[in-house]
This record gives sequence, structure tokens and C-alpha cells, in this order.
Amino acid sequence: MAAAAAADVREIDAIVVGAGFSGMYMLIKLRELGLTAQVIEAGSNVGGTWYWNRYPGARVDTQSLEYSFSFSAELEQEWRWSERYAPQAELLAYAEHVAERFDLKRDIRFHTRVAAAHYDDASSQWTVTTDAGDQYRARFCIMATGCLSVPTEVTFPGIESFKGALYRTSRWPREGLDLSGQRVGFIGTGSSGIQAIPVLAEQVAQLTVFQRTPNYSMPAHNGPIPDEDLQAWQANREDYRARSRNTALGFLYDPTDRSALDATPEEREAEYERRWQVGGFRIFGAYTDIGTDLAANATAAEFAKKKIASIVKDPAVADLLTPKDHPFASKRLCVDTNYYATYNRDNVRLVDLRATPIDRITETGLATTGESFDFDAIVLATGFDAMTGAIDRIDIRGRDGAVMKERWAEGPRTYLGLMVAGFPNLFLITGPGSPSVLSNMMTSIEQHVEWIADCLAWMAGRQQAVIEASPAAEDQWVAHVDEISTTTLYPHANSWYMGANVPGKPRRFLPYAAGVDVYRAHCAEVAARDYEGFVVSAAG
Ligand code: FAD
Ligand code: NAP
Repeated sequence: MAAAAAADVREIDAIVVGAGFSGMYMLIKLRELGLTAQVIEAGSNVGGTWYWNRYPGARVDTQSLEYSFSFSAELEQEWRWSERYAPQAELLAYAEHVAERFDLKRDIRFHTRVAAAHYDDASSQWTVTTDAGDQYRARFCIMATGCLSVPTEVTFPGIESFKGALYRTSRWPREGLDLSGQRVGFIGTGSSGIQAIPVLAEQVAQLTVFQRTPNYSMPAHNGPIPDEDLQAWQANREDYRARSRNTALGFLYDPTDRSALDATPEEREAEYERRWQVGGFRIFGAYTDIGTDLAANATAAEFAKKKIASIVKDPAVADLLTPKDHPFASKRLCVDTNYYATYNRDNVRLVDLRATPIDRITETGLATTGESFDFDAIVLATGFDAMTGAIDRIDIRGRDGAVMKERWAEGPRTYLGLMVAGFPNLFLITGPGSPSVLSNMMTSIEQHVEWIADCLAWMAGRQQAVIEASPAAEDQWVAHVDEISTTTLYPHANSWYMGANVPGKPRRFLPYAAGVDVYRAHCAEVAARDYEGFVVSAAG
């Protein structure tokens, strides 16, 4: 299908940016369609999130049987997860296995960052320029750049003067790190921090955790997957997967259809306890209104508060670890192994940055407004420029030179989280305005990749070459995404879901909160109506 190669520009049917699970599966589907494709990846291997985030304790918080590809029964039969929540190294090995099994690496260029993607109206082609200065020309450009792939640029006064070692969880050294016997300062108590802190505490001499906002966390109860569970999974795989795709969260969590407010306090306690004992995100299924009604939400928050108090021996520390400024799970719910109990250790101390904020990093450690600390190493687990960060960092220009970053200056605008008006043939996988980070990402990645592949096949079948979102459909979708978010409690929190963790980032709820099931049905309906809301043409 692709034209012959021009002098310095490689001609190809599709460019995919990113070789995480999104980019890998997209490559498989593009090949199935008979299209030539080039994947470009900044890292030196596949795996995306699981390539970059190698901090101690890094693992999934969605159960591995469900956080894995479902598109190939053979792949699923031959891979065996060691634990309910697999660790980072195993996820990376899984990504490697998928790459080998489907012979993906021959079409992936590593160590290369895409710097620009410009659309040419006359030829209806994208020209993609890498940081090495070379170029690719393709009809389709697919951004598989990840929702959580760009760390925030959090810094502190004096940081360059620190004589010890400074690490970021999201850029943990590939060769690993032994911090035994060291005094370590740890900043950040989101999911990354909550996973890393208990493991580091066992290794280091002293761990001082600097907490700005406490988060809610549920126990993982991690361990080997019992044989009978594995057998049940293999026997019922298709049914389980089909059901997962049609839940709101993209995995099985046993949702009820009851309001928390219709249950007695005793019933609620029993229901929450039952789900706490299962662990992970099972609590989401307890009641329908935990995420939408403040009074219902308060019952879950109260349960979590009591749990923290029952685990953490020092009541003052337990109180500090209890969230007070946002509803339960209105920031991303965390899943942990021994997080709260870690604060019972003699070598762990919690510092409340609300009472005494960080003043500066010093040569020998860190000074808050109340105290100075000496450290051998400081770890930053300070989060990501989520959902828009990777797209914003590429110079993307669409029809008539429209600049994506300018188009998104007031917040991201998409139709279905998949395309942006004025940027023909440019697709986003799990883009803003789709359920993405509110779901099991593997479910959402598969749904998007398959929708895009079906769309390309449909176009080819009709001799159509160009598809783009109509401005009206995009306007309606953006308004709809906003409106749905106001029916939830998410806007009550200063979270990365709201863009609140990046100074200057517009405060907009980024994902689509109506649920994977609702969204999937809507996307299917749009396709069935010959891609309603999209403009399709034979040429530019
Ligand atoms: P990524 O895995 O982020 O891959 C994107 C790739 O694109 C990266 O390798 C990056 O280097 C590359 N890239 C970006 N920009 C460029 C560019 N300009 N040029 C070249 N390459 C580029 N989700 C869940 O559902 N369950 C979980 O348990 C879970 N755990 C997580 C744990 C951590 C520590 C983090 C950070 C996220 C977690 N997530 C989880 C979300 C996770 O990001 C997704 O599940 C999934 O891995 C995303 O895959 P992806 O391919 O879309 O993006
Ligand atoms: P995060 O949730 O954004 O947490 C960042 C932490 O750093 C917060 O506690 C934040 O405090 C703190 N922080 C940021 N800037 C700070 C500053 N200047 N001073 C002091 N503290 C500061 O980031 P994350 O923990 O990396 O997680 C991001 C997302 O990735 C998760 O929500 C999840 O979706 C995914 N993830 C999943 C897992 C998993 O369990 N599988 C693990 C890691 C990540 P404030 O809250 O006050 O801003």
C-alpha cells in the first residue's frame, strides 16, 4: 500500500508513537489490515509504563488475570501470572513475550522520540519528525503515547545543591538500586509512593515520608493465584472477558444495584468489610452511589478511616494518614501491601507538609519550615502530567497549520477521546474524553485499538482515505464529558484527573466518567451509523 521510499523520508501507511501495550497491540492490528507501520519509542524496549516505572514495590493494582491482553486465547493460555498483582519485572517480561510472539520489534524503532507531527492538506499525509531529525511520512498517525508517561517537573528550591542521590520513581535506575543502610527522604504519597514506601522501609536505615495529601488505599491481599482460580479463569475466560468489557470499570468487581443510604449501618459495615477482605478495587462495587453522592460516599470514607485507625498504632499518625479534604476515591484509589502498618515501624517517620511545608532542598538533605533533615538519598514520587502531557510535548499541527497545544489551551478537546477536529487521520489511544484511566486500562486499550482498526478497514472498504472529527461532534462530546463529570464527586478533589497537579494546567476533568460499558456501546453505535460525527473523504 505504501509508496516507494523518498530520499530522506520513509514512506509508510501508519506511524504509531509509543511501544507500551497500546502501541504494541496497534501494530498487531495494523499488520492484520495489511498496512505497513512504524512504531517509534523513546525507551529502549517495549512495555511503556512497565519499562519506565521500576521502583521497589511497583506492580499492578488491577488483577493480572484481567490486566493482560484478551485478544488472543493462545497468548492467554500460555502465559502464567505468578501473583494476583504481578510485579513490574513480570509485566515487562510479559510485554517482551508479546513482542516476541508477534514478532513486533522489527517494526519498532527504540531510543527515538517523536518531536513533531505535521499534516499536509494537499497530500493528506502526516510527516513525523524524530529527535534525531529524520522523517517518516504516513497517512495515519496514531498516538499511543500513554496517559501517565510524562513525569511532572516538580522541583524545589536548592534541589541542585543536594550532594546525595536524587531519584524519581518513574525514572528508577534500570540496573536497580540498593539503598540499604541509607537515610532516605521520600516525597509523594500517591499510588507510586504507597507501593514503594513499605518496600523501601524494609531496606533503608531510616525513611522519612513527606506527605502533602493523604490518599485512600485498599489492601491488595496479594499472593499466588490459587490453582482453582486459574482453572476457573481458563475454563471461563471468554465469558469473564466479555463481562469485564461490559462493566463500568472494565474488570469484574461484583457491583450491586443498591444505594449505600438504603442499607443499615450494620449492613454497610458487613458489605465494606467483605470487600476489604477481597481487597483491591472490589469496594467500588459495594453501592451504586459511592462515587456520586456525598452522604453515600461518607459511609465508605468512614469505613476507611476506621481501618486506618485500627492498623496504625499512633493515633496522631493515623489521623494524619486519614484523608479529610476530598471524598473517598475522588482521587485515584490506591491499593497497597502493608502501607499503613509501615508507619508502625521504628525506622519510618511521617512529616505533614500541610503543617510544615518544604522550604528547600539543602546540600545535606531537606528543610521544612519547621525542621531540617539529613539524607543520603531523596526519592520523588510526585506524579505525572496526566493524559495530555505526552501529546502536549509533541509539536502536532493539523489542517491549515492548527497547533494541537493551542487548540487544547483551555483543556483537551476530542470527539470520543479518539480524534480531534482539524487533525485528520490522527488517532489517540485512551485519549482525554475516553474512560481510559478510570478503567482497567487493558480493556480500554483493546477497545480503542479495535475501534481504530475497524474504522480503517471500513474506510478502505469504501475507498475512503481521510477521516476527521466534525467540530460540532467534538463540541457536543466535550460538553457531554464535562456534564457527566458534574454528576460525580471527582470535581471535589484537586487531583490529576482534574489537571490540578500541574501548575497552570486548565482545571478540567480529563477522562469520561460514564463507564466503559456505556462508552463502548456509544462507540459501537457511532461506527454502526457509518461513523456518525466524523467527516470521511476520499482525499484531503
Ligand atoms: P505507556 O505504557 O505509558 O506507553 C507509552 C509509551 O510512549 C512510553 O513508552 C513512552 O516512552 C512512549 N512515548 C511517549 N511520548 C513519546 C514520543 N514523543 N516519542 C516516542 N515515544 C513516546 N493501569 C491499570 O489499568 N492498572 C494498573 O494496575 C496500572 N498500574 C500502573 C502503575 C504505574 C506505576 C503507572 C505509572 C501506571 C499504571 N497504570 C495502570 C496505567 C498504565 O499507564 C496503563 O495501564 C498502560 O500501561 C498504558 O499503556 P500505553 O501503551 O497506553 O502507555
Ligand atoms: P500521584 O498520584 O499524582 O501522587 C503524587 C504525590 O506527590 C501526591 O501525594 C502529591 O501530593 C505529591 N506531590 C506532588 N508534588 C508535590 C510537591 N511539590 N510537594 C510535595 N508533594 C508533592 O502520582 P503517582 O503516585 O505516580 O500515581 C499516578 C497514577 O499512576 C496513579 O493515580 C495510578 O493511576 C497510576 N499508578 C498506579 C499504580 C498501581 O498501584 N498499579 C502505581 C503507581 C501509579 P498532593 O496529592 O498533595 O498533590
